[in-house]
Amino acid sequence: MSDIQLADPFKDLTRKCPQLGEILSFGRELLTELKQIRPAIDIEPFKPTPDLLKIKLKDGFPLLDKSRIDLPINQFIEILKGISVFFAQKRAALKPAILELVEKINNHKFDMQGLTRLILNQAACNKKETLTIDSAADERKDLNRTSNVKCLHNDDAKANYNTREKEQNPPVLLTILIWISLKPFGHSFGEALNPIFQSQQGLPPWHQSYCPVCGSSPQLAYIIGEEGQRHLICSWCDSSWAFPRIQCPCCQNIDQDTLKYFYLDDEKELKGKDRVAVCMKCKRYLKTIDLRKYEEENTRDLQMEDLSTIHLDLLAEREGYERIARSIFLF
Ligand SMILES: [Zn+2]
Ligand SMILES: [Zn+2]
Repeated sequence: MSDIQLADPFKDLTRKCPQLGEILSFGRELLTELKQIRPAIDIEPFKPTPDLLKIKLKDGFPLLDKSRIDLPINQFIEILKGISVFFAQKRAALKPAILELVEKINNHKFDMQGLTRLILNQAACNKKETLTIDSAADERKDLNRTSNVKCLHNDDAKANYNTREKEQNPPVLLTILIWISLKPFGHSFGEALNPIFQSQQGLPPWHQSYCPVCGSSPQLAYIIGEEGQRHLICSWCDSSWAFPRIQCPCCQNIDQDTLKYFYLDDEKELKGKDRVAVCMKCKRYLKTIDLRKYEEENTRDLQMEDLSTIHLDLLAEREGYERIARSIFLF
């Protein structure tokens, strides 16, 4: 497996692309806002018995079924409204649309429980999944068959979305705001359930490329330890799990000749501490942070890392690759 070095088109992101600098600073503020919400989240995660845990892990089923998840919906709506106000304050151009949305939410124009399940199933899945309600179901089924279990319940979630008396196609802006507002809930589920999975002895090992806690696709990977073990990080609940380095987490390709890393030219001396693992077979990529090359390896904020390496996303996309799962910012 040889690496590919590329010239960095975004050496000084802020200088060369002021818009990107603005996105970075807005993103940082949003992440800080979301972190402040976390302690207030009130969830009661399902606690599997040891026997059920064994069966689920052995058969490759995640602990949570996102299509049937019950969020504390009133608390979710309050958080969603708070995030909406944050956006309206920071992005004046969105303010009228956001105020209109908040009014509709207050007037119960959306089936929020159904909508959150649907968005959760789509946004935290393979990025090719679409975020619109009326998307091509057949295409989704194909993706489900060829990828993995993570999207199996999309159609269930769609069927559960109550469209009879509610607005059928929620605006894209609402979809984005819901996905962002779901993130602190995911983190809480991960925090509650990931330790059970990691500390229980005698459990079947998890070899899947989707999250053992919630079944979502990986958002990032990091490399840690003397042997350079790769861990994938869930795009919804932030759980992490070990996964082979020479295997594509999207199509499971294990052919060394078609699995490569991109890293930037000027990081040669750092041997690519932030890089992009690409699969030439399915044309997907996963940003990879080599924590061994950072001094304080355990204190890295991986969401912040994803945001601050947005130039690697641009680079990978320029080379014709697509992310496996969306970031919190939906890029
Ligand atoms: Zn997860
Ligand atoms: Zn692949």
